Amino acid sequence: MRASNERLHLGNYEGALRVWIELQDKYEMFCMVADWHSLTTLRAGQAFDVGRNSLEIAKDYVAAGLDPEKCAIFIQSHVPEHAELHLALSMVAGLGKLERVPTFKEKKDDLGAEQQVSYGLLGYPVLQAADILLYKPYGVPVGKDQAPHLEVSREIGRSFNSMFGVEVFPEFVNIIDQDELRSKLPGLDADENGVLRKMSKSYDNCIYLSETPDETAKKIKSAFTTPTKLKKTDPGIPEGCAVCQYLKVYSPDWQTAWDEDRAGIRGCMQSKTECIEVINEYLRPMRERRAALGDDEIREILRVGAEKARERAKMTMDEVRAAMKLA
Ligand code: ADP
Repeated sequence: MRASNERLHLGNYEGALRVWIELQDKYEMFCMVADWHSLTTLRAGQAFDVGRNSLEIAKDYVAAGLDPEKCAIFIQSHVPEHAELHLALSMVAGLGKLERVPTFKEKKDDLGAEQQVSYGLLGYPVLQAADILLYKPYGVPVGKDQAPHLEVSREIGRSFNSMFGVEVFPEFVNIIDQDELRSKLPGLDADENGVLRKMSKSYDNCIYLSETPDETAKKIKSAFTTPTKLKKTDPGIPEGCAVCQYLKVYSPDWQTAWDEDRAGIRGCMQSKTECIEVINEYLRPMRERRAALGDDEIREILRVGAEKARERAKMTMDEVRAAMKLA
């Protein structure tokens, strides 16, 4: 699941998409572009073309390797049951709990004092619970950073069951990639203390799946490396260098690169050049698939995906209405 106000970046790929692609052969999967979610942080005068963005993200999904024959790929607002279940769950989601969700506080601060915080932003975790519970999943595959959100969804499901004395929503598990570095891929920069932080659209430190090889090269050339390594002969600290971290993920020869970096027998430029090469090669098949994918084709994939998702979503909503004794 993915809020749709940006394209997908390499961190999204490593933490989520890559795992989905593996799972699509083993499980029935529902992959959604979360367009409603992306509207929860609208700023005055900054409305954006949410539909266009959703199409681009869906293209990223398919380009990355999700197969529409194997899983349902759809846009959240095309399946109105998401909005309906959100309303139903909002009757059992505690206000205090929602106000304490850390990302609510962060996003509220991001918006600044002069911007009103919307009711939609507070309800973000309720909508996320609806997104998940609608499909009564065995598991939800997301990056490690999302684990606390899944806990909120679980609690909302339990509250619904206990409020109405039913077992509509079974428990689900987190499916998280065990590869430490990939499940929190660092961005191109460092924080104010010179410490690497995760790749995130909110830090503007991303390599996007849909950017060109030249754009990627340019970004890696100015990526964060050991700040005290000014000359080739200065010793590097690969653990704290974004480029060395990428080499560890993407280059089979990373160990040699790290040793040479530490020993001061290779400069940052050499590491950057190698890094550009391996990352561009890694992204090549995705870029090729994306270039071949037209708007009409992706729209048709999304139409079929929404139909598949709705079939399942309607069954859950029937149970929800019955549990709530709606006439
Ligand atoms: P962002 O931080 O760019 O806003 P989201 O929070 O929308 O990304 O995350 C979408 C999905 O991508 C989630 O499953 C999340 O766990 C995963 N993800 C995001 N950033 C990273 C990262 N740097 N490394 C690994 N997974 C990530």
